[in-house]
Amino acid sequence: MLPFKLIYSDAYYLPIGQHIFPAEKYKRIHDRLLAVGIAEADDFLEPQPATDQDILLVHKPEYVHKLKTGTLTPREELEMEIPYSPELVEAFWLAAGGSILAARHALTDGIGISIGGGFHHAFPDHGEGFCVIHDVAVAIRRMQRDDKIRTAMTVDCDVHQGNGTAAIFAGTRTASTLLPSAGASTLDSSVLGSAPSKIRGAHAGDVFTISLHQHNNYPLWKPPSSIDVDLPDGIGDDDYLAWLDNALSSGLRQFEPDLLCYIAGADPYCEDQLGGLSLTIEGLKRRDELVFQVARTRKIPVMVTYAGGYAQKVEDTVTIHCNTVIAAKEIFSSAH
Ligand SMILES: [Zn+2]
Repeated sequence: MLPFKLIYSDAYYLPIGQHIFPAEKYKRIHDRLLAVGIAEADDFLEPQPATDQDILLVHKPEYVHKLKTGTLTPREELEMEIPYSPELVEAFWLAAGGSILAARHALTDGIGISIGGGFHHAFPDHGEGFCVIHDVAVAIRRMQRDDKIRTAMTVDCDVHQGNGTAAIFAGTRTASTLLPSAGASTLDSSVLGSAPSKIRGAHAGDVFTISLHQHNNYPLWKPPSSIDVDLPDGIGDDDYLAWLDNALSSGLRQFEPDLLCYIAGADPYCEDQLGGLSLTIEGLKRRDELVFQVARTRKIPVMVTYAGGYAQKVEDTVTIHCNTVIAAKEIFSSAH
């Protein structure tokens, strides 16, 4: 039995037909975790869909109305890059409910993982990049509304910048300043010195947003996160982990979150079709371990969502996502 819950439903499946987004990955992750004995049936919890009231904590009433009545404009539908259907809307309401449940369990168990979610390209008034509803933002706002948390930090390790997250939480910022780059870190500066990456950012309000992503990739317009790490093409495991460590240290020096929302995209993988970084499957697991170790050491509850993953072989995407659960099991089962 795992020392935490996995939030999952067969209805996480996105009804989008043949698509670069492998909507069947959620069920395959669930089935693999059971088949190899990482998890038992009792480790899984079935979420309820978010309520409209929950969704409206983040999204504009006009947009929610259009989604529920099927009245998006052709242009708005095109921008989502997945075909609209009432069933699609239901799947996104469920993903948001799953993230709410994962957040709730994070607060009681130290960590909660939704085998889904992470739709970080959704904006208050529109969807884009396969994302319709920003489930992580909905979960944060719901926890705040319930007085369970005051502050949160998003740590987005999908290969694509978390533009929706940055836009949603930008309004709460009170001041803006440039971060010191390397040197603020405990890392050997030689690791970072040669990389053309840069860290930019601004102070946050009640939600501090960190995004580590490939600079030369979607989205073209990247609204500023609290910390953006713009990585160069082709970066590998060691450089990536050094930048992640640096960003986490820097963020946690500036901000004390009551909840850490880890967006564990599988697409920084070297064989990803929509990514241009060069992480290995092992490197991605070390990434997960780093985030979990930092959260556990500092006693910050962490909720996990999965976001993207477009490996040439869907099996690799499934492996990377399963490894996130294995990493959590290793870190959260061990004695301090
Ligand atoms: Zn992505």
